[in-house]
Amino acid sequence: MTTEEQVLKQIEEREISFLRLQFTDILGVVKNVSIPADQAEKAFDEGIYFDGSSINGFVRIQESDMRLKPDPSTFAVLPWRNKDDGGAARLICDVINTSTGEPFEGDPRYVLKKALERAEEHGYTVNMAPEPEFFLFKTDDDGYATTEFADHGGYFDLAPKDLQSDVRREIIYTLEEMGFDIEASHHEVAQGQYEINFEYADALKTADNVATFRFVVRAVAAQHDLHATFMPKPVPRINGSGMHTHMSLFEDGENAFHGEGDFDLSETALSYLAGILEHAPAITAVTNPTVNSYKRLVPGYEAPVYVAWSDRNRSALIRKPAAREPVATRIEARFPDPSCNPYLGFASLINAGLDGIERDLDAPDPIRENIYDFDEEKIDEHGIETLPKNLGDAVDALEDDEVVLGGLGDHVGEKFVEAKNEEFTEYLVNVSDWEIDRYLETY
Ligand code: GLN
Ligand code: MG
Ligand code: MG
Ligand code: MG
Repeated sequence: MTTEEQVLKQIEEREISFLRLQFTDILGVVKNVSIPADQAEKAFDEGIYFDGSSINGFVRIQESDMRLKPDPSTFAVLPWRNKDDGGAARLICDVINTSTGEPFEGDPRYVLKKALERAEEHGYTVNMAPEPEFFLFKTDDDGYATTEFADHGGYFDLAPKDLQSDVRREIIYTLEEMGFDIEASHHEVAQGQYEINFEYADALKTADNVATFRFVVRAVAAQHDLHATFMPKPVPRINGSGMHTHMSLFEDGENAFHGEGDFDLSETALSYLAGILEHAPAITAVTNPTVNSYKRLVPGYEAPVYVAWSDRNRSALIRKPAAREPVATRIEARFPDPSCNPYLGFASLINAGLDGIERDLDAPDPIRENIYDFDEEKIDEHGIETLPKNLGDAVDALEDDEVVLGGLGDHVGEKFVEAKNEEFTEYLVNVSDWEIDRYLETY
């Protein structure tokens, strides 16, 4: 845990000239305010004022003054910034409402903190570990992203160079320099697709990590004239990018998910899991928040479609990964994708799981076969529901779900639903290339 004094000392020792104060908007986009490093003390004491009216979903114009309060434990030097032209570091901030002096309830980080407080009331801390997947694509001559894979030209090149694995290595080094514990990284199923896993941590730190991870990956890729995208399904008919999220609750330092039930799960774990299954349609609106997210959630591409759980098959919404020791017992939600706001996504999973615990829900039987192979009759026989088929249906489910919507708080809940309904309507009024290809000459 880094304290304010330690941060100030590091700023001096590491010759940091600029501090980037980082936070995210409701849609999960990372925002930055840059200040000269000699303002650090003031930033800790008084906070830094900014105009919240220009941030998506934050405030209305007439109440626009917000204050950023840096969290010293999140201090990290940005390794790609050269000391010679001014080293830079970042601090993740909480957002404070200047008129009340209280945390701003529209701050996604605050929404997650509320969910964690609720867990704490039950005596639990929450651990999370994500598996974000992404694609690397070439950029065009003007520097704009394309959907052309960066790794298929290499084979014929005169001076062959595995650009992608160089970039991946550099991404990992950069993340490690910023304090990430990288567990593994590998080429994913699809061409040009990668996954980097980082070690589990408490849910707040993990959400901070996901937000940071996305901009670091993009920044390093851009230095190699590549575009990294966390768009869930950038290329049709191949695997999309998910962000599987592993979770466990700890109580007094012990893993409360480990127990005598199915596959070493405790009653607590099974109720938590049942809560997520019950609220899955509403959670989807938050963890899979784009129109494009639903193009990933289709059968045949290792992404979940059915509201079920299993210890092995990857077509289920929740999987129980094998664990070597009790401390590692956990469940894996396979539906989230990396376009989500990690703070809001994690908060929604936690609130749904805690609801399952509070209501002592029983988990349904696990499904051990490949559900993609089930016919409709078999799906009905097992009483398996499907996830929402599009963003509009997911947002409808969210609007009807007091637990998940309530967990977002009035401000974020309202703004989120409004933004997503608008996004879906915008999609509906559009006509895609696919429709033109399919219908223009036929009719
Ligand atoms: N890309 C797949 C998804 O969309 C997951 C593939 C995997 O990790 N096995 O979730
Ligand atoms: Mg994985
Ligand atoms: Mg994967
Ligand atoms: Mg996984």
